[in-house]
Amino acid sequence: MTLPPVRTSAGAAGLTALLADPRNALVGLDFDGTLSPIVADPAAARLAAGGAAALAGLTRCFGHVAVVTGRPAGWLARVAGIANLPGVQIAGQYGAQRWAAGILHEQEPAPGLPAVRTALPALVAGYDAVVEDKGLSLVVHTRRAGDPRAALAALSGPVRALAIEHGLQVHPGRYVLEIRAPGLDKGTALRSLMAETGAQSVLFAGDDVGDLPAFAAVEGLRAGGIAGLTVCSASAEAPAVAQRADLVVDGPAGVVAFLVALVALVALVAVVDAAGQAVSGDPLRRPPAMPPEPH
Ligand SMILES: [Mg+2]
Repeated sequence: MTLPPVRTSAGAAGLTALLADPRNALVGLDFDGTLSPIVADPAAARLAAGGAAALAGLTRCFGHVAVVTGRPAGWLARVAGIANLPGVQIAGQYGAQRWAAGILHEQEPAPGLPAVRTALPALVAGYDAVVEDKGLSLVVHTRRAGDPRAALAALSGPVRALAIEHGLQVHPGRYVLEIRAPGLDKGTALRSLMAETGAQSVLFAGDDVGDLPAFAAVEGLRAGGIAGLTVCSASAEAPAVAQRADLVVDGPAGVVAFLVALVALVALVAVVDAAGQAVSGDPLRRPPAMPPEPH
């Protein structure tokens, strides 16, 4: 039950707060590359080995557990098995969707999205890229191209120009360009969850540059007195995320091991607290005897 070292004092304070009062804490977790190994076919992504048990363990001791993802929330609930984990909610499509206890709420699609949906296939043709339609956003994937990095670089300008023309934004990721409504990112999603739950401490784990707005949200919350810890699921494809995090683990398997250790530590702290109260409660903390009634 050993946690990797926390590299910052603010992160150490965040971990201490999470362990001290887990019922008033929010644990936010990215999915792809964090809870799930990256795979060539996005539809084939599944929770890492032990991931479901780790999430179930979190829900038993932390007050609020959420997967914060760019994925459609309904897909994640059904296919990734989150629907079988009571207590885990999903902020899908960067917060445009919210799924909890089998009920899905979502924002209206951005007005410019249909025009981009129509134009995008012709734009990416010839680059060996594929377009994923997530309903509220569109994603260009170059992972399966002969040279994924070159395809991403070549498409970046034209995709961005098309998005801007229709009032949308482009967010890059690990061999992806995601087109979505302005103002939607994991930072706003995490801040909304914190406001709704009233949580007093926060952990966020992610692997990609799309998770950096959530890291920034944790840093901003700290400035407002909410303790927080950022965790990076490290990969060679997004080194900037590890540089920004308080604590770094090795990919989804490392995340699962970390979450299991965190849950075990929460249980240990609770046992130590209970033992401390039992010891200090009797006889040393027994209230002083009342003086005898005067006759
Ligand atoms: Mg990810």
